[in-house]
Order: sequence, then C-alpha cells, then structure tokens
Amino acid sequence: MKPRYLVIVCICIWFSAMCWVLPVANAQQAPRNARVQIGVSGQGLPIEAFRFGTGTRKFVIVGQTHGAPERNTGVLSRQLIDWFGNHPEAIPADVRLYIIPVLNPDGDKLESRQNANGVDLNRNMNTNLDKCSENDWAQRVYGASAVISDTGGPYADSEPESRVIRAFLLDASAVVFLHSAAGLVFPAFCEDPIANAMAQIYAKAGNYQYARYWDKYPITGGMHDWARGIDLPAIIPELESGDDPEFDRNLAGVNAVLANAPALIPALADRQINGITMSMPIWRFWQAYGAEMLGPPLADAQLRDGKYVQAFATIMLSYDPRDEVQAVRALPIEVVPIAGEVALTSDDATVLTFADTKAVVHDAFARYYQRIDGVQLLGAPQDNERMMALPVGTQQSQQQFTYGVIRYDEINNRIIRLPVVWQSMVTSNVIAPTQPFQIR
Ligand SMILES: [Zn+2]
Repeated sequence: MKPRYLVIVCICIWFSAMCWVLPVANAQQAPRNARVQIGVSGQGLPIEAFRFGTGTRKFVIVGQTHGAPERNTGVLSRQLIDWFGNHPEAIPADVRLYIIPVLNPDGDKLESRQNANGVDLNRNMNTNLDKCSENDWAQRVYGASAVISDTGGPYADSEPESRVIRAFLLDASAVVFLHSAAGLVFPAFCEDPIANAMAQIYAKAGNYQYARYWDKYPITGGMHDWARGIDLPAIIPELESGDDPEFDRNLAGVNAVLANAPALIPALADRQINGITMSMPIWRFWQAYGAEMLGPPLADAQLRDGKYVQAFATIMLSYDPRDEVQAVRALPIEVVPIAGEVALTSDDATVLTFADTKAVVHDAFARYYQRIDGVQLLGAPQDNERMMALPVGTQQSQQQFTYGVIRYDEINNRIIRLPVVWQSMVTSNVIAPTQPFQIR
C-alpha cells in the first residue's frame, strides 16, 4: 500500500473510531449511542455491546453464540449496528437497544462452534430454573445436526462467556438470540406468552416460519430456556442460510418487535417474596446465582445514591439502573474477623491467588469458589482459611471474603455460606449509628 493511501485509511479509521469513543467519553451525559465492553472471553478477547437509545426498557440482540459456523449472525449483527446508528428514530423513547455482535469470539477465532474450552455455550446455561424438566442442564447434549457429545460443560454456567451474558441480561426486558441455519423462529420451551407472541411477530415480519418448539432434538442448557427461568422473554431466530446474513428480513423482524415494544419489551415488575418487595433485577440475580445458597431476603430494598440495596441472609446486593455492564452486584459486608489457626494447604494445584490481598483460597474452598462464580458472590479473601474449634470437639474451617463468609460443614460434608448479613448490619449501625435510637 502506498504511504498516501495509508494516511487516508488511517484518517478514516480514526474518524470511525472517534464516532464511538466520543460518546463513551461523555457517558455522564447519557449519549444516545455507546459502545461498551461487557466482559472478556476465556482467551481474553473483548465481548462488546453497542447501545442505541436511552430508554428504561433494555432490549438485547445476541449474535454468534455458536462461533465460526454461525458467522452470518455476527455479520447480521454488525449490519444492524450500522443501520440503527443511522436511524435513531427507529428506537422508541422508552427503549434502549443493545446489540452484542459476537458472544463467542474464541469460537470465531478457533473456527469452532464451541468456546476455547470446547463447551457449547448454548448448552451450558442453568436451565433448571424454569418449570420444565425436559430441558434441564446436562453435560451430554445434542449439538448441530443432532450429533451427541459431552459439550454441555463440567457444570451449568461454568464458562466465562455464559457468566458474561448471565450478568448482562439481569435487567433486560427482552432478548433475541440469533442462530443459523434452520429458517424458523422459536420461543423458550417452557410456556411464555410474551416470548410466543414475540417469535410469531418476528417470524411474520421476516418471512420465517414460526415454530412453537424446536422439534429436531432436545436442547438442554439453552440460553433462551435459561432466560425463561428468570422471567425474561426470549426467542431464537434461526436464519435460513449458514452464510447469508438475511439483513432485510431480520431488520423487519427486529423493527416489528420494537413497534410492539410496550407488550413485547415489558417494563420490569417488582416481585414479592415472603412479604418483601424485590426489584426484578435483584430477584433474577438471587434466582440465577442460587436462591437457596444465598438465603432469603431480610428487608425491602433501600435507595442509596441512586442504587437499590437489599440484604439477604448471606449477601448484600445492589441494583444500579445506570450500570450498563452489570446492573446487580454484591456489596462488601463487615463481619467480626474469624479467630482460629490458619488451615494448611494440602494441594498446591488448587490455590487461587489474588492481586489485591495476601490471602489465598485453596483446596475445597478454591473448587467451590470457581464453581459458584466466587468473583461475583464472594469477592476477594480477607484472610486465609482458618480452623474453628467447635464445642463438640470437632473442627471446621471457615474463610472470610469481601461479600460473605463460607464454612466447611463437616456433618453434611459440604460448603455453606454463613448467615452473617444481619449481624453485619447491626454491627455497622452500632459503630456508626444512622438512626436516632438509644440503647437502654
Ligand atoms: Zn446456533
């Protein structure tokens, strides 16, 4: 390439980059369009979402979950990104549209349907949360063309990309997962009137066949069925071809959903659990990350600095509607430091180290940490694992983290979270009283 052309190309790249960079730089003023990194793949590649509009109802389109063989869904996503960038009027005022062009960048790079760990991301989700058992997560799965393989992952939600999409969709109102190639549109397996209607409207506008069920083979661990379990309307358009992005047909489908936004992209309604009100995103986090493990809600949410903060038996959660990457997160809790001997490490292979703390997580606690997504649910260790002397003469180990405390339950041979949040709230009130009460 001649230097002169190179300069022109560089200027063009610079201009197109600035169109995205400038809005991000002014994020405080809520620009109409933005480009956000929502996470990274197993091999460290960025997973990005492009936003259009600033409305409260979040509508998400996800491309290329199945890597290289479904590359046309990534091409389609980029064409939609270009189109909505040029047609801001197409987004209703109360909607904000996010398009994730490639959810599985490692599969794209490695010429694979699966991710870098060889896991099929559309078979890896926790689909045990919906009311249908037929689609429950399994390691042995049916893949493309009904080929059976052990590509569901070692356990549900085990993959980095599964965790990225799980966190990103907690505050969404509707989602479209693009796949190819079957030439039809279908909703979540377990009955959802909104998803059923959305699939029919999308299919009709795009001239695709509507199918109430994918009847070629059972799908376990699918993202649409995971979404059903947290009451998030979800559909799968399967493009007709494996190569053609079928842009006009899918633009018509997306625009038909947007035109029916009040019904198909519904506002998030609160939930009542034991007489306690939970916002939908917090309820979804609680469900998706394990309601039984996290324990019941202790009180209604409190509004603090624009965030909704809610206490559960073992964890504090906050929902921040302005957080584009992950609206619900765990909050630090204050607990009395654990007194006891530091537990010995028996297996160096399973020691997790953390950059910001001298403490480590090892052995069974390390395996538990990885399995439950400890980054989200526990944070960094505040101290090393310690042995607790118990009255009955047995010993149990315990470890304290930023967001909670875990203990090895010797009797049942399992690891549990301790219900320390109430104690943490009382402790912080005694240290820094926020209410005008007197202890008598
Ligand atoms: Zn697919």
